[in-house]
Amino acid sequence: MFSKHEKPHPIQVDPQRESEIHENISEVLNDIENNKVERARLVMVSKPNPASDCAAAFSSGQLHFGENYVQELVEKSLEVNHFYPFMFLPHEIRWHFIGRLQSNKCKALASIPNLWAIETIDSEEKAKKMNDAWAAANHDEPLNIYVQVNTSNEPNKGGVEPDDLIRVCTSIDKTCPNLNFLGLMTIGSVENSALSPNPDFVKLAELRDEISSVLGYQLELSMGMSSDYQDALKLGSNNVRVGSKIFGSRAPKA
Ligand SMILES: *Cc1c(COP(=O)(O)O)cnc(C)c1O
Repeated sequence: MFSKHEKPHPIQVDPQRESEIHENISEVLNDIENNKVERARLVMVSKPNPASDCAAAFSSGQLHFGENYVQELVEKSLEVNHFYPFMFLPHEIRWHFIGRLQSNKCKALASIPNLWAIETIDSEEKAKKMNDAWAAANHDEPLNIYVQVNTSNEPNKGGVEPDDLIRVCTSIDKTCPNLNFLGLMTIGSVENSALSPNPDFVKLAELRDEISSVLGYQLELSMGMSSDYQDALKLGSNNVRVGSKIFGSRAPKA
């Protein structure tokens, strides 16, 4: 089918799709500029869009991408893989894993050379697993992590319960030298997303202040998605994760 000596080549991008994505990104960047009260980065959530959409978004100059599925992230990040043979996404991309973290996926995540952050650490055990997997994979820099908090107390939502947060964060800070504890992350409930100020974001900001003072360094806030990032920025978000506003609406999950 193809020779293994064939050189990988960049993924082809449809120019019309590219300019549509660029327009959406500019709008979001404008909103960020107009609403932020702290330094804030944009993470473009590319699930479940094809790698060509990531390539289109990358050519805007933005570097941070978020993915929810380990397999999809691994495939998109590899230079040569079976989904996109002999095509690659640029190594400059800074990948954020933002999906539910399973312990048995830590090794696969650690194999990604340009993984920038895991935003969904939700227990000491998984932090330790990720810490050890990162060490075993011989990276030069520690891996950035956010601890996910279940600010809305929803039974099916991932994240550490607020009451447990000091204990979990102190332990991660002490026992995970290969992780760089960057901040706290929340998704929040759908109902709260319609409120301004959003109680989940207010709660996360309070918890951040508390944990930062316990640890002795300032943590970031990762909060805000397409429907609520402007509100999140006003409440101090440093990291907004925007998907559908950039890439278009997703088909509802089956
Ligand atoms: C899907 C997803 C996003 C992006 O959601 P949009 O509403 O499409 O912007 C952000 N964060 C997490 C954790 C997600 O799963």
